[in-house]
Amino acid sequence: MRTFINEEKFSELTGSAAFITLVGHLNPDGDAIGSLSGMYHYLSARGKQAAIVLNNPLPDNFGFLTAGLPIFYYDDAPEKCIEAVRRADLIICQDMSAPSRAGDISAEIENASCPKILIDHHLNPAVEWFDTVISDTEVSSASELVLLTLLKQEDVVQDVQKLPLECATALLTGILTDTNNFSNSVFPTTYDAAKLLLQRGADRDFIYREVFCSFSEQRMRLMGYLLSENMRYMPEYGTAYFTLSKNDKKNFSFLRGDSEGFVNLPLAIKNVSLTALFTEDDGFVKVSLRSKGDVDVNEFSHRYCNGGGHKNAAGGRVYLPFEEIPSYFEKCIGEFFAR
Ligand code: 5GP
Ligand code: MN
Repeated sequence: MRTFINEEKFSELTGSAAFITLVGHLNPDGDAIGSLSGMYHYLSARGKQAAIVLNNPLPDNFGFLTAGLPIFYYDDAPEKCIEAVRRADLIICQDMSAPSRAGDISAEIENASCPKILIDHHLNPAVEWFDTVISDTEVSSASELVLLTLLKQEDVVQDVQKLPLECATALLTGILTDTNNFSNSVFPTTYDAAKLLLQRGADRDFIYREVFCSFSEQRMRLMGYLLSENMRYMPEYGTAYFTLSKNDKKNFSFLRGDSEGFVNLPLAIKNVSLTALFTEDDGFVKVSLRSKGDVDVNEFSHRYCNGGGHKNAAGGRVYLPFEEIPSYFEKCIGEFFAR
């Protein structure tokens, strides 16, 4: 779905706000923090006060984007998050389709009386909660959409050199991560956006090293273990999946973010067009889904995993005992592909 970018409304709402609170989805990823950090640096350069509110911290490999920013996590400091939402003259939600995706702070956002802007690239944005919506599913990432929005602002007018370097770095990080280093969700405009950000001075090699090459030895061994011992392959359905238990996490000294990217790996098998990773958590099982081509994991997640996302990348939660996951998932896959 393509939606026109109402840059005038964005300009008007940001122009009249002194303190702006930026919000992203729970379990933030590179696009959530990239788009938020990019917006933060733009607003700061424009003389605005801003803060970022997230449900929980990011993996350490995104530390280069968060260092020194006023960023609050509900898991660590709920009162600071509530204060940031309550004192806001404007709330901007990015990389999330509805306030509920923000996690524990969502009710505060829904109840806030200040204006709200949504900048997002997911299907079916909950437009009723927002004063203006900048939504487009035919872009790589929320970061790309933030760039397109900022380029249309009066103080930038299509001149990327007017954006702060930190903004360009953050937005390119969001594009790199949401496209898995330009391997999926890439549109012609994505390369245009990347080109502009590189011209502004964003260092692709630095970002690549920080994001994709800064894991521990144990993470590498966990990946090998999951692929050789734990991956289940269902050739008749072009599906492969694995499960990651609390015990596996303990055995491999698991750190937040260590399983990032694992779900993509079985897509490298020629016949595979749907992959899943199930991670045991407290009281639920976190689901990550990926697909190739026309296989729609957003629909799969809606139907079977209480979630959503995009056609080729979605997530959700299943409330079943962990050991029941394989039989549940294999039953769902049989049903899904029977249609
Ligand atoms: P991931 O597998 O990286 O956690 O998520 C992939 C995509 O699915 C992301 O775009 C994310 O926003 C979306 N997603 C992940 N978990 C959920 C969920 O529980 N509900 C919904 N609606 N979307 C999700
Ligand atoms: Mn995204």
